[in-house]
Amino acid sequence: MILPKQKNGYCRHCKKHTEQKVSLLKSRGRSATHSLSHGGKNRALKRGRGRGFGNLGKWGSKPAISKFKRTGAKVSKKIVLKFTCKICGKSMLSSHPFRSKRAVFE
Ligand SMILES: [Zn+2]
Repeated sequence: MILPKQKNGYCRHCKKHTEQKVSLLKSRGRSATHSLSHGGKNRALKRGRGRGFGNLGKWGSKPAISKFKRTGAKVSKKIVLKFTCKICGKSMLSSHPFRSKRAVFE
């Protein structure tokens, strides 16, 4: 997918339409600083999930057949755009992330 390098859009800090630089927001994995991010085991334990008997949803083991079926992984990634205002220098994220295999700036 080809994306524009810059576009005109509404800046909620300047409260008017300004020229904005478009860049990609990279998704980062779980780190030591953000160990309690969504989907983290520590977070689940703190919320009272992820312990006990039986197959507790995702925390239990899955049957072999479903593991076998899970080979077809998604090839596209969710793309979140970051718009940086050229006047005030503040940045905003796109409100509608979309899926795409590859995002290139023209
Ligand atoms: Zn601005």
